Amino acid sequence: MKMFIGGRWTDKASTTEVVNPYDGSVVDTTPRADLKDVDTALATAVRGAKAMAKTTAYDRYLMLRKAADIIAGRAEEFARVITLEEGKVIAESRAEAQRAVQTMTLSAEEAKRIHGETVPLDAAPGPGRQLGFTLRTPVGVVAAISPFNFPLNLVCHKVGPALAAGNAVIIKPATDTPLSALKLTEALLEAGVPPEGVQCVTGSGGEIGDALVRDPRVRKITFTGSRDVGEGIVKAAGLKKVTMELGSNSPLIIMPDADMDRVADATVSSGLSNAGQVCISTQRVLADGRIYGDFLDALKPKMEAVTTGDPLRDAVRMGPMVRESDAERVSLWIREAVEQGARLVTGGDRDGAMHAPTVVAEARPEMRVSRDELFGPAVAVTAFNSIDEAIALANDSRYGLSAGIFTQNVDWAMRFALEVESGNLMINSSPQWRADLMPYGGLKDSGMGKEGPRYAVEEMTELKMVVFHLE
Ligand code: NAP
Repeated sequence: MKMFIGGRWTDKASTTEVVNPYDGSVVDTTPRADLKDVDTALATAVRGAKAMAKTTAYDRYLMLRKAADIIAGRAEEFARVITLEEGKVIAESRAEAQRAVQTMTLSAEEAKRIHGETVPLDAAPGPGRQLGFTLRTPVGVVAAISPFNFPLNLVCHKVGPALAAGNAVIIKPATDTPLSALKLTEALLEAGVPPEGVQCVTGSGGEIGDALVRDPRVRKITFTGSRDVGEGIVKAAGLKKVTMELGSNSPLIIMPDADMDRVADATVSSGLSNAGQVCISTQRVLADGRIYGDFLDALKPKMEAVTTGDPLRDAVRMGPMVRESDAERVSLWIREAVEQGARLVTGGDRDGAMHAPTVVAEARPEMRVSRDELFGPAVAVTAFNSIDEAIALANDSRYGLSAGIFTQNVDWAMRFALEVESGNLMINSSPQWRADLMPYGGLKDSGMGKEGPRYAVEEMTELKMVVFHLE
């Protein structure tokens, strides 16, 4: 596919192959943008921001609603592209396409709800009479940099609110998975978004990212991706608004009153969906010592029953990882944990990019499988003796994106909610749960700022204070 910059679909002599992670076949190629292309996109976006700022809230509502309808009409096509470029099983890709419809619909609705408020300035002592109110105005140009793992819906989470707020947006999708973002750009243009209001630049983040994020024409960066890349962007961005949706090693706490069957099912689905490549995948399972053995007994056969293979086949429950090098990393960390005293309950092996569903027990917090972001189809299980220890273990992480607890005890659930350092707290669910309308974002090294259209619109607008000084 071509990229869309400067108001037209553009090709380049230099291209990058988009490879199917399952069989290594080339799905398509995309242009490899250079610094000149970034400059073109930025100059165009400045004009686009002016055009978008002139649209009414209702215009933007209509554009985004129509985009949602177009995605809905092509949901199967989008799902196939997601699976082909990313490797997730087709059922999960279909779910992602449906979520994208929702994200765009919610964004359309938010376009109609952007408003300020009156401020009671006479509530403070002072001379004179003033009447004050706030206004929300677009920031101008938004740079939206997205990761490989949800190549459609996470792009919608950036583009939908950016356009709803009346901004121009430049999308920089992940090099591994640019096709869904390009097809989304097609849908947005068809829906009536001005050609200068949305652009999609394909190319290596390492080569063109810095020029995009440093440029003063960009007023807002919304980034989803890894911690280290995010930190580099924050440093390079200078005085701009930034939203950082970064990584995690999410904990799931199992208290002794939990239903083992239900918890084991939740661990399988939240540990293995998208081959464990979800920012809120369950990675660290913390199980009360009294039910630790029962939990592993319930988990092992369920993990072993998961069918792996071609993600386009409906019967397959887990596909490959996005790259072979990622599967290699997961294997290495598991081997390392076992050498350091952990026990391999099941899995551990891999074939190319396909990594087997894996459980490592007796994991300790200092092991990489627990300490860092594994981002693969494996869970590391650790025993605890009290709720205090469970909370301390959950918080023993640089990350804080999502956490889950299974218990029927209200006091334990409340302590978990109050004391676990995490942006999202799930009671009687795994950490891997998100509704697209909720405020979503991490604490600590998991980032800053919130997504969810209503909250993202706030971050993509400026709040101005207007004061009338009355006679
Ligand atoms: P990544 O390697 O950090 O890449 C993310 C994006 O940043 C890609 O578009 C990448 O482009 C671009 N990029 C790379 N270097 C850049 C630079 N110097 N300047 C500007 N942009 C640059 O992450 P990933 O491997 O695609 O995604 C996995 C990570 O995303 C995990 O850590 C996961 O937890 C996190 N994630 C977080 C959330 C959340 O909501 N918190 C959701 C999903 C994923 P290239 O592809 O061209 O390198």
